[in-house]
Amino acid sequence: MHELLDAFIFCLGAIVGSFPNVCIHRMPREESIVSPPSHCPRCNAPIKPYDNIPILSYIILAGRCRACKAPISIRYPAVELLTALCFLGLWIFYAAAIPMAVVAIMFVASLIVVIFVDFEHQIIPDEISLGGIGFGIAASLVYPPLHGVHTWQASIVRSLAGLVVGGGIFWLIRIIGTRALKKEAMGFGDVKLMAYFGTLLGPALILLTTFFASLIGSAVGLTLIASGRARLGSRLPFGPYLCAAAVIALLFGNQCISWYLGKLDMKTF
Ligand SMILES: [Zn+2]
Repeated sequence: MHELLDAFIFCLGAIVGSFPNVCIHRMPREESIVSPPSHCPRCNAPIKPYDNIPILSYIILAGRCRACKAPISIRYPAVELLTALCFLGLWIFYAAAIPMAVVAIMFVASLIVVIFVDFEHQIIPDEISLGGIGFGIAASLVYPPLHGVHTWQASIVRSLAGLVVGGGIFWLIRIIGTRALKKEAMGFGDVKLMAYFGTLLGPALILLTTFFASLIGSAVGLTLIASGRARLGSRLPFGPYLCAAAVIALLFGNQCISWYLGKLDMKTF
């Protein structure tokens, strides 16, 4: 029975994974994400429902449009598979707390959109960051255990504190960085994204996210510079590192904080 439910969650992830694909393609182009229905970007032929099965259709069609044989980007099945694996992974990780699994799944689905759009277009869609702030506050109201508390009042305080801390830190970094570098150091999209993360993670985990993101960002940046693929001061999309850091903070942040506080305790006593 467990396996059947797991398989269902995986399939649900693959189906939902079609949605980030639509967002990734249409949001940066300012197109509606609901209409027109899916069509081939080259010949405009509408995609038949039987050719729109996540992951499988790509394999059956050998990665080409049925009408004009134009190649279909590998990104489509890849995002569907990634979303399906995330759904299944989070479902198993949060087995004991289904509402937490649902919030985490929606959170990670939105991050998949951010990662791909930011890599390709260096923008973070407002639909995700500002829409996400609404989602984060609503989830905190409905499900206080998200912030480890029992009342919606305490939960909303932590959610708003997370918003202010996350958005505030990055707003400051943006101002200081822009002054120091005499050019835009960081997009305002990153500020809004961190405000969104803050509403779900709260003030402590959003600080940890900032710490992890700077570690990941420096590691990737230094690797790129060392391998000659970027120069000091070239603009790197920061969104994907923020997303990776936020997922680590969501899954393991509380353990990291207790472990760190435990170490401090041992030193003082
Ligand atoms: Zn076509």
